[in-house]
Amino acid sequence: MLPSKFDLLVMKFGGTSVGSASAMKTVLEIVRDEKKKWKNVVVVISAISGTTNILLDTAAQAAAGDDALISKSVSELRTRHFEILDQTVNTPEININVKSSINELIEEFRSLCHAMFVLGETTPRALDAVASLGERMSVRLLAAIFNDAGLPAQFAEATEMVITNNLYQNANPDFPATQVATHQKLRPLFSDGITPIVTGFIGATPQGITTTLGRGGSDYSAAILGAVLNADDVWIWTDVDGVMTADPRIVKDARTIPSISYSEIAELAYYGAKVLHPKTVKPVVEAGIGLRICNTFNPTHPGTRLIANAEVQEPTEISQIIKAVTTIRNQKLVTIEGRGMLGVPGLAARAFAAVASTGTSVPLITQSSSEQSICFAIPSAPSDNVINALRNEFVKELANNDIDGVFASEPVSILTVVGYGTKNTPGIAGRIFSKLGDEAINVLAIAHGSSDVSVSLVIGSKDDSRAVLALHNLIN
Ligand code: ADP
Ligand code: ASP
Ligand code: MG
Repeated sequence: MLPSKFDLLVMKFGGTSVGSASAMKTVLEIVRDEKKKWKNVVVVISAISGTTNILLDTAAQAAAGDDALISKSVSELRTRHFEILDQTVNTPEININVKSSINELIEEFRSLCHAMFVLGETTPRALDAVASLGERMSVRLLAAIFNDAGLPAQFAEATEMVITNNLYQNANPDFPATQVATHQKLRPLFSDGITPIVTGFIGATPQGITTTLGRGGSDYSAAILGAVLNADDVWIWTDVDGVMTADPRIVKDARTIPSISYSEIAELAYYGAKVLHPKTVKPVVEAGIGLRICNTFNPTHPGTRLIANAEVQEPTEISQIIKAVTTIRNQKLVTIEGRGMLGVPGLAARAFAAVASTGTSVPLITQSSSEQSICFAIPSAPSDNVINALRNEFVKELANNDIDGVFASEPVSILTVVGYGTKNTPGIAGRIFSKLGDEAINVLAIAHGSSDVSVSLVIGSKDDSRAVLALHNLIN
């Protein structure tokens, strides 16, 4: 009997980790190894890299009246999936069956896009139906590879397990309902020693309509399944050696952070470190599940382990406080200003309600102490909608000149420095500003204080890579 510590492991593999025949074979070997140590392993995967973008871009273009991309994308998707299949699955029956079921999904994609083209519009619900196809194809492919290699596996659609609300493109799970459905679906597979290969990213409403959890949401899928199955560990396999001191695409000498607290990783993920979807942290912390981030292409590297906040060793040296630097691009700063705002209660509440009515979330807020202006960041894409909603909300105040203006800035980036003590240690802010000053980078806004573990600054977007590189030099 294995110790209970080795009862259940959930492993999620991202798009690059399943992006080629050799990557899929590596996934097979990783799972085979862990199956020797754990009683049950649940595999959650993303669509093969680039697929979700192809699906959504084609749908958007079709809805905008251009159907030229549809047949090109259909053949690209078919080629990419079939090439991997032909390089990995030798058993003719398995190969033919999987090809035919992937073909059905691709035909579903073609008809959905065609419907959007005819209607000249799309809806979030229809886009979720399209986006879900990537994961629905990849699980069939990987399960076939496993079975062909003698490791019994069964693909499983999260639409039958992860029950969500109907907030299409950003749905939230109903944990109790998900728990019941997941146990019903997976327990029989566990009893038969079969490894489930589950679609990341997607779920369904109680009525069975497909939803998605937001871009990059497969990490969250793994956390949800880990929580409802009471897993011991959730491991996120990606294409870098764990959580690093900065995005290695920006900072070539970024280093792996061997252990990081839940609060620190939550800030990093929220403020742009794509390596982990920001919603992943909460379910695993609440369920007391271990979380590890590791590299499919360097599987012996230990990666990053998440540790409880209480286990964090307070840094003794100022130079050890900053652990990582991250950035979110394509933002705008919205300012609402006017002398008539001074001391008027409820303005901020009305402003944020108006922003929320457009479905936009606000990653950063600053307010001048004299209350003559409110300033906050939003993603660039919905900024016209947000400004219109605010101008509608404050139409009277604008007419009376109590509010002088509501406007959005040029594109900006949010730069966030993460680490315990960044807030409470004298001298950290000074170091950050001096470094940026040395590089002649102007700081447009600062949010310092809402979290114990981070400081965020807003800078012009043209400066963001230089700023990340400069602040990375502050990390010991
Ligand atoms: P996956 O497809 O496996 O989910 P993602 O592309 O979503 O992978 O996330 C991994 C990427 O996150 C890395 O390739 C890296 O460029 C980026 N990244 C951004 N910030 C960080 C960071 N601090 N540490 C590690 N990777 C980061
Ligand atoms: N395939 C989805 C995306 O590209 C989900 C994920 O990769 O996590 O957003
Ligand atoms: Mg990801």
